[in-house]
Amino acid sequence: MPIQLSAPDVFADRHIGPSDDDVAAMLDALGLDSLDALVDQTVPAAIRTDRPLDLPPALSERALLEDVDARAADNDAWRSFIGMGYHDTITPPVIQRDILENPAWYTQYTPYQAEISQGRLEALLNFQTMVTDLTGLEIANASLLDEGTAAAEAMMMLNRVGRGRNGDTFFIAADCHPQTIAVVKGRAKPIDVNVVVGDPDAFTFTEDVFGALVQYPATDGAVRDYAAFCEAAHAADAHVAVAADLLSLVLLEAPGTWGADVVVGSTQRFGVPMGYGGPHAAYFATRERFQRKVPGRMIGVSKDAEGHMALRMALQTREQHIRRGRATSNICTAQVLLAVMAGMYAVYHGPEGLRTIATRVHERTRLLGTALQRLGHTLRHADFFDTLRIDVGDEMTTAEVRRRAEARAVNLRYYDDGSVGVALDEATDADALNTLIEIFGGTNGRRLRAEDLADALDPGYDGPLARTTPVLAHPIFDAHHSETELARYIHKLASKDLSLVHSMIPLGSCTMKLNPTAALMPISNPAFANVHPFAPADQAQGYHRIIDELSGYLAEITGFDDVSLQPNSGASGEYAGLLVIQAYHRANGDDQRTVCLIPESAHGTNPASATMAGMDVVTVACDDHGNVDLDDLTAKAEKHSDRLAALMVTYPSTHGVFEDHIRDVCAVIHEHGGQVYMDGANMNAQVGVCRPAEIGVDVCHLNLHKTFSIPHGGGGPGVGPICTAAHLSPFLPGHPLADTGGAQAIPPVAAAPYGSALILLISWAYIKMLGAEGLTRATKVAILNANYVAKRLSSRYDIVYTGTRGFVAHEFILDLRHFRQELDISEQDVAKRLMDYGFHAPTMSWPVVGTLMVEPTESESKAELDRFCDALYSIRDEIQAVADGAVAADESVLRQAPHTAEAVTRSEWTAPYSREQAAYPSAFAREHKFWPTVRRVDDAFGDRNLVCSCPPIEAYAADDEETLTAALDA
Ligand SMILES: *Cc1c(COP(=O)(O)O)cnc(C)c1O
Repeated sequence: MPIQLSAPDVFADRHIGPSDDDVAAMLDALGLDSLDALVDQTVPAAIRTDRPLDLPPALSERALLEDVDARAADNDAWRSFIGMGYHDTITPPVIQRDILENPAWYTQYTPYQAEISQGRLEALLNFQTMVTDLTGLEIANASLLDEGTAAAEAMMMLNRVGRGRNGDTFFIAADCHPQTIAVVKGRAKPIDVNVVVGDPDAFTFTEDVFGALVQYPATDGAVRDYAAFCEAAHAADAHVAVAADLLSLVLLEAPGTWGADVVVGSTQRFGVPMGYGGPHAAYFATRERFQRKVPGRMIGVSKDAEGHMALRMALQTREQHIRRGRATSNICTAQVLLAVMAGMYAVYHGPEGLRTIATRVHERTRLLGTALQRLGHTLRHADFFDTLRIDVGDEMTTAEVRRRAEARAVNLRYYDDGSVGVALDEATDADALNTLIEIFGGTNGRRLRAEDLADALDPGYDGPLARTTPVLAHPIFDAHHSETELARYIHKLASKDLSLVHSMIPLGSCTMKLNPTAALMPISNPAFANVHPFAPADQAQGYHRIIDELSGYLAEITGFDDVSLQPNSGASGEYAGLLVIQAYHRANGDDQRTVCLIPESAHGTNPASATMAGMDVVTVACDDHGNVDLDDLTAKAEKHSDRLAALMVTYPSTHGVFEDHIRDVCAVIHEHGGQVYMDGANMNAQVGVCRPAEIGVDVCHLNLHKTFSIPHGGGGPGVGPICTAAHLSPFLPGHPLADTGGAQAIPPVAAAPYGSALILLISWAYIKMLGAEGLTRATKVAILNANYVAKRLSSRYDIVYTGTRGFVAHEFILDLRHFRQELDISEQDVAKRLMDYGFHAPTMSWPVVGTLMVEPTESESKAELDRFCDALYSIRDEIQAVADGAVAADESVLRQAPHTAEAVTRSEWTAPYSREQAAYPSAFAREHKFWPTVRRVDDAFGDRNLVCSCPPIEAYAADDEETLTAALDA
């Protein structure tokens, strides 16, 4: 063969775990001779595509990084003082490298398995504590998607709270951020909430009003006193939500002290770059009496089996997994990694540091305001924190200000009435101040220097709403202010958490695959990280080329015509997709089409999203094989024929099977005038093999944080783009501040026009590096890995569902129900015992109660799959010991799992099994032990004694229940 001069590195070989020899051996174990033969056995011929993916040739990692640098150069590095909820910030390098760029943090899964998640749970508890403290409220959740949707969640919660007492009107102050108003209005319409936008000072609470939203400080910088407004609301039995800037609350009186019932906002400026819109963590705080109505996840304090303090996700019964259509929200993936960063920013700076930062920002704003006044301009508001609204003086025009700003590569905010907005931030230095003074200085302006003015001004904030309540009083915010201390704290927490750096996380439906380092490196590039979402699009050419290319790739992969990248999560995509369907029906005059059919096996977010979209959910049964029951579907479609809006269907099914009759399912819906929505969480089994559009689907969402390798980050960020057939494209979501979406666009479903734009780079890079062949091979190997594990385990366990030819798709369900019935050994016991072996449990009790759903993904090697199977074999022997009567279920190593180092090294040992069996049950564990740091966590205790912020410091050290309870009560 001649010497090859091209393509030395094939990324697919790094991404896909099994080698060619492994693939051959695994196929052999399945009795097949090629990957294509496997596809023949698993994917129905009727739906397989005959059109291979048409994508650009695969790039090596190095070539990809060079390409990214070229795109970065297409973004203009203008300085933005636009504000509107997005500010430049300084990410402490120790947080950037040790959290954002650290796979031990970003490859974590959502902390459902609390015993091996104590690190991120503590980081999130810190976040909640920071939020409750700064807002002056009692409880907070562990993040929402962005400020706009958090405000919408507040509106929805207050609507639920007020139901029966008040009417359906919600007031929004006109000086809220425009994108917030648009998102809340969009969310209000489907649930028949009537929104009134106006001036809070002129608003009267009548009995039809259930709540209101105001912004603090207002979008144009004004610090208004809303105490009387809150009083008026409460007198009318209504509630007030406040969208607040968290940094301003360090200096301004906490909304909780002047009457706010809910406070929401963004934590972006706590060290998380703007990223052209996201991802950032929004926060949500409220009164304790609403604790069961709070949307999203909350972290709570509980105890483990030995009485030690242990953290967990609290009040899970409010969520969609249990309550489905009646859940408090459809939030599943949120913004965990970003919340961890923001919380850690507060831990690092502490109360004094934050005060210094906030004061500095405010002083510079005052200085700028003074300079502008001297230059003949007028400030619209006397009381402000960091944002000025400037009425341009007679000696200059707004157009001239704008020209001068643009000549200096500076973005300001230009209001329709000719006034100009300037928002300062942590990164505004003397140079920047002088540039701003020059911009507004005009030709005959005196030569003012920030340095000269500084000497003449009093320090600090002394407005009428100065904060009197203390800030961040918990000791956790005073313990890690040196880099050495913080680095150790970050690594101490990370070491408590099992992530992909330890072993496979075989979570069915969640697709925990490799998150390629080369795909993640671009998000640290300041040319992408520091772009303001409302900067003019022509300054973000690099971004727009990536957005366009990624949209094109996703359209090619799904077979659809158009894509919206706006939704910030899969569930947000579901909601957007259903609104698109609804808009389509309305455009056809079919307003009455509101029935949404959802199979009983659907993910809980499906019914929750349909309810949010104002649809009537009708459940469709599944047959004995886990397939959508075609008879029941047909009957229900017929029954609701006139009112049928949509079917939501997951494919391959949530039971891990490619249903043969999917085309018939789509046909039935279309016959009755409905649209087919596909939940694309299982796209990892389809890419390159079949296309949703070719199957007969009309719209689907994808989870870029599953199939397209954006890391899970411990439960977020995510991106849930929707892809539509041409007839639905005109309705794709728009945005008040950007040219995006269809011609008859539905309102925005996220605060930023392109959602979490920064992390789109990851999926774009992933697709570019794999190329058409690599992507298709990844799909086939994902199916192979699942079938190989299913085959090995089937000798010792039952598999709940298989396809007609006896194979599974890319995931499968292990049946443990009979162990529980016969032996009192549950799926929980197996999940917890897996921790002792160094593995994360598969998806537990979903979609079938009492089972485990395994999804290995293509990235796991045969060696790792074998280790995992060996662990489950060994656990099967342990179950057998109970079956044989050798040990009682209660005393078994399964029920007692997981085991901590402290437990197995304690002098006293009374268990009927050895310490060695407890802690080192396998060769893998002996060679590479991962220690859970708490014993089994008590869920009920935590929900009974709900504590959602950092408890007194004594609780951390408590080693029995009595001490812990006393500390929690204190
Ligand atoms: C993950 C998942 C969702 C929800 O996606 P999020 O990004 O968590 O909102 C919906 N449906 C299925 C089947 C899923 O697996």
